[in-house]
Amino acid sequence: MARETVVEGIVLRRWYAGEHDKWVRLFTPEYGAVRVRVRGARKPTSKMGMLTEPLNRLKARVIEGRAQKLLAQPQLVQSYTGVRADLERLTVALALCETLDRWLPEEHPEPEVYATLLEGLASLAQGATPETVAAETLWRWLAILGYAPELGQCARCGCASEAENRAFVIGDGFLLCAACAPSREGVPLSGASIAHLKETMRGEPGISIARPDEVRSLLRAALRYAERVLESPVRWLEFWERLNALRESG
Ligand SMILES: [Zn+2]
Repeated sequence: MARETVVEGIVLRRWYAGEHDKWVRLFTPEYGAVRVRVRGARKPTSKMGMLTEPLNRLKARVIEGRAQKLLAQPQLVQSYTGVRADLERLTVALALCETLDRWLPEEHPEPEVYATLLEGLASLAQGATPETVAAETLWRWLAILGYAPELGQCARCGCASEAENRAFVIGDGFLLCAACAPSREGVPLSGASIAHLKETMRGEPGISIARPDEVRSLLRAALRYAERVLESPVRWLEFWERLNALRESG
């Protein structure tokens, strides 16, 4: 990164520094996730405070200091008001930001991951089902980041994964049919769900056209799989499931 650069990016996370400043993790297409300090952002008169909150898409200058990078002159590109107006959409959007904050290393460009985040947020803003957006986005990221599980067949007996009326379980990076899975710890998936998953991993519309119950299983599978493969618990899983339980109880 040059001494001074104009970047565009989405705020993934923010935390406080000192009395008046805050830190922001900004995800940019060119430089990946960048940690920047925003001076004076917590002063009551500062406009920068509001602008540098999670989920905002910004354009700003990043200045390389001796020990840290500083963010200056942020301008709002998009605030996703349509997403913020609805609790469930907002939860999913913030959860996607939180997930990337954990998954992305410092300053490693991932333009495809960035594009997928923008797509997901746009879909949420346009009223797509939050569960579908979450499942699709998480599986795409896993594929882009090189964590795609082997989905062709059962890793033990070799039976075809798209076989009718057969349940499958995603384990540590591979797929087992229900007969071969030692316990039912994983998330059971139908042959049809796995077909949708394969399409999504190829960047085609798969999960977006799946049935609601299939989407739910694929989302649960994404969360469990990501937790295990990336060794990073996705904290919002709990909140998500509580929200679903509330909705199902009417
Ligand atoms: Zn098997």
